Amino acid sequence: MSAGATLLKLQQIDLELARNKSELANMPELKELASKRKTYVKLKSEMTKLYAQRKDLDIELDDLNTTEIQTNNAIEAAKKRHVDGSDYREVQDLENELATLAKRLDKIEHTRKDVVVAHKEALDREARAQAIIAKFEEGVKADTKAARAKAADLQAQIDAAAKERTALAATLPADVLTDYERLLKQFRGLAVETIQGNIPTVCHTALQASSMSDLNHDGRSITHCPYCHRLLVLPSKEA
Ligand SMILES: [Zn+2]
Repeated sequence: MSAGATLLKLQQIDLELARNKSELANMPELKELASKRKTYVKLKSEMTKLYAQRKDLDIELDDLNTTEIQTNNAIEAAKKRHVDGSDYREVQDLENELATLAKRLDKIEHTRKDVVVAHKEALDREARAQAIIAKFEEGVKADTKAARAKAADLQAQIDAAAKERTALAATLPADVLTDYERLLKQFRGLAVETIQGNIPTVCHTALQASSMSDLNHDGRSITHCPYCHRLLVLPSKEA
C-alpha cells in the first residue's frame, strides 16, 4: 500500500475507533440501567413500608386474640366465683362485671372484622408489589446482560481496530506519522483529505490554478493543503 493509501486507511480506522469509544462511553443502555436501579431502590423501600404495615396488622390481630382469651378466662373465673345469692349487691356486681366483659368481647369481635379486612388488603398490596418487583428484577437482569454484551462487542471492535492501527502506523514514515498524529488532534479526527479535480475533499476550498500547478510539479504524493493545512493525499501518477 502507498503511504497515501495507508494514511487514508489509518484515518478511517481512527474515525471508527473514536466513534466506537464514544459509543462505549455514552451507551444509553447504561443511563437507562442507572435510572432503573434508582426506581428499583424506590420500589424496595415501598415494599419495606408495605411489609411494616402488614406486620403492624399481624400484631394487632395477635393482641386482639390475646385480649379475647384473657376476657374469656375472666368470664370463666367470674362465673366460678362463689356469690351469696341473697346478697343483692354481690349479685349485681357480678352481673355488671359479666356485662362489662361481654361488651369487651363484642368490641373485640367488631374491631377484628375491620382488622381482618385491612390485613387482607395489606397482604394483597404486598403480593402485588412483590410481583412488580420480581418482574422489574427480571427486566433489569436482562437489560444488564444485553448492555454487557453490547459493551463487550464494542470493546472487541476497539481492540481489533487498535491492533490494526498499530500495525498500519508502523509502515508509515516516522515524519508522516508524527505529522498525522499532530493534525489528528488539531482537527479532531479529519486530518487527511484527498482531492477531486481542484477541490480538496474535507475543506472543499477550490485550489487555484497556480496552487494546482505547484502540487503537480512538486512530485510528492503526500503534501499539505494550502488552505486548511491538512495532509493532502494526491492521486498516484499510475492511477
Ligand atoms: Zn484543505
